[in-house]
Amino acid sequence: MGSVQIVTTILAAAITAVAVWLAVRAVLKMVAVIRLGQPAPERFSDKVARARTMLVETAGHTRMLKWGVVGAAHWFVMVGFVVLSLLVLEAYFEVVTTDGGLPIIGHWTIFGLVTEIIGVLGLVGILVLMAIRLRNRPTRPGGRSRFTGSTMWQGYFVEWIVLLVLIFGFVIRGFKVATDHFEFPFWATPVSHAVGAVLPDWADGVSVAAAIKIIISMTWLIVISLNVTMGVAWHRFLAFPNIFFKREPAKPAGSGLGALRPMTSQGKPLDFEEADPEKDQFGVAHVEQFSWKGLLDFSTCTECGRCQSQCPAWNTGKPLSPKLLILSLRDHAYAKAPYLLAGGGKDLTGEEKATQAQLAHLDVLALAEADKPLIGTAEEGGVIDPDVLWSCTTCGACVEQCPVDIEHVDHIVDMRRYQVLIESSFPSEAGVMLRNLENKGNPWGAPQNTREDWTKGLDFEVPRVGEVDDFEYLFWVGCAGAFEDRAKKTTRAVATLLNEAGVTFAILGEGETCSGDPARRIGNEFVFQMLAQQNVETLNEAFEGRDKAKRKIVATCPHCFNTLGNEYGQLGGEFEVVHHTQLLAHLVATGKLTPVQPVDGGVTYHDPCYLGRHNRVFAAPREVLGDAIAGDLTEMPRNSERSFCCGAGGARMWMEEKIGKRINVDRVEEAMATGARTVAVGCPFCSTMLSDGVNGKGAGEQVEVIDVASVLLRSVKPEQPQGGKETAPIGG
Ligand code: SF4
Ligand code: SF4
Repeated sequence: MGSVQIVTTILAAAITAVAVWLAVRAVLKMVAVIRLGQPAPERFSDKVARARTMLVETAGHTRMLKWGVVGAAHWFVMVGFVVLSLLVLEAYFEVVTTDGGLPIIGHWTIFGLVTEIIGVLGLVGILVLMAIRLRNRPTRPGGRSRFTGSTMWQGYFVEWIVLLVLIFGFVIRGFKVATDHFEFPFWATPVSHAVGAVLPDWADGVSVAAAIKIIISMTWLIVISLNVTMGVAWHRFLAFPNIFFKREPAKPAGSGLGALRPMTSQGKPLDFEEADPEKDQFGVAHVEQFSWKGLLDFSTCTECGRCQSQCPAWNTGKPLSPKLLILSLRDHAYAKAPYLLAGGGKDLTGEEKATQAQLAHLDVLALAEADKPLIGTAEEGGVIDPDVLWSCTTCGACVEQCPVDIEHVDHIVDMRRYQVLIESSFPSEAGVMLRNLENKGNPWGAPQNTREDWTKGLDFEVPRVGEVDDFEYLFWVGCAGAFEDRAKKTTRAVATLLNEAGVTFAILGEGETCSGDPARRIGNEFVFQMLAQQNVETLNEAFEGRDKAKRKIVATCPHCFNTLGNEYGQLGGEFEVVHHTQLLAHLVATGKLTPVQPVDGGVTYHDPCYLGRHNRVFAAPREVLGDAIAGDLTEMPRNSERSFCCGAGGARMWMEEKIGKRINVDRVEEAMATGARTVAVGCPFCSTMLSDGVNGKGAGEQVEVIDVASVLLRSVKPEQPQGGKETAPIGG
């Protein structure tokens, strides 16, 4: 060992010791913070499915690859990080001796070949990612950026480190070539040989370059260890557990979509018959009341901004960005952690748990952070502004896009639950809807005895459950379908088509009440459970004696479809629920319905969030339209998984939209830009929002918003009176 090698070895050892010590300290801190969360025992179920999904999503980059070039570039950088870590390890041998290398595998030509290929592809990948970040930087002139609000220096820092580590990998090999210490043939390592051809024959070059590579790598480790909230770096490690512990591991996509999680206290679902707000946690009032998985979510955020770029609230000028919401919760959790780890925190009656002595030596900043209300305005020092919380439509675009499976919607609804159930603090307009649900069983407050009014004027009988026993489908009409004029047309169209196809069905009539979706999405779990339990009881009675495969329900409202199919199981109601577009597609495909006259004039389709993203029903409505219209469906730029919300979900239908541009107007502009004269929908709320948007633009005479079922009915029974243009909704 020469004097240069003595110096490089000491330098490498010293910086590594410091970096490893800091990294261990950082990991322990992170684990301690995540452990502050509430139990989530269900996250340990089904470990085989969890492991499989984690491997598919990470190794296959299934979510990232939806973003094409970025996904491919990121895949090479990720593989480069894993495989080329071996070359960082090899550098520790190279600082000691110029012809050092990894024992055993370091001498295999295949190792030389694989690392060479991955090194080159990793270089290309990181250069692409750097270019994309620069092109999308928030400070660029004009345009919105998904990186707005991200900590940009951290992204640049990580990318430069990766670039330099990759470059120095080739420099080390180049010096080995130049000094004739390289054992791999030219065909396996052409780039290394090319670099070697331009480097001098410097005997100590290998050790010096190896030391620089180690210093760069350890500088990265030191910086990220001193910044435990640096998700852009830590996600390399945290993404694995975050995906492993996602909420429905067997779901190939959208695991955080569909059903909402039940309200839990100490990890157990809350039973409202026994729940006591002084003993049980009602939603989330403090950051430590999220589950540990919530805190892991916050820690894992890479700040990539994919969620933000798709969020309808953010894109229409509301203060909500799902990314910034997660980052605020993360920063608050880590800043408050010293106080919580010292024993601080409030019990359920609001009393401080720690003694004076426990808090005596605490950093004032941690104490100040602990005093911040989780939900509060800037003047109140709140972590999350109420306007942020109430801007969410629960459309799920953020969850759909997140490459590390963060479950934004669950966190938002958990915070809403506390605000509604304990603080009674929510947009006042929504109070009328909640009162109507409690008193009348529907959000409009319409009399229950008018639930069957939509059947008037039909030229066939619509039987009620109890009047017939042998019905195949229970037709769940929904409150909109029963009371709202536009939606009643859809209800009649579906009933007519089912009758035409010879499908036996029956309705609950006055036995039906609201599915509870708006109550649950606004955070009123109490009202949701009240309505849902009543419905589950009614439905179980209607299907008495049938096994699950024969407990078939068809629903026209995606919110009912989602709630009945995905959430009633939490309350003992197991049913086979289909959306009417699925059933109609089946009836057309099996020849039970025959479109005879194509609907022309150009048709586009708006995917309802709770049908598409939340339940992956993208094909069925398109199949129905494909059979019923002349020519091809004209797709909007934002369609299917990336569809843009109409603005009504998450109980936003019953709240005023006071900030920014109206979401429905944004969507209508996109629909009208296709030139289509018909905007087909599959949801009564989308129908209302988009019709209002079209009318608001003064285009009511040129563009019609109608349900897929009505389009099909026009094609199947062109002679059937269609009732003209849609009329105004109840109360609207
Ligand atoms: S659910 Fe939709 S509205 Fe809510 S934060 Fe996510 S993208 Fe935005
Ligand atoms: S998509 Fe996921 S990782 Fe990216 S910023 Fe949003 S929450 Fe963070």
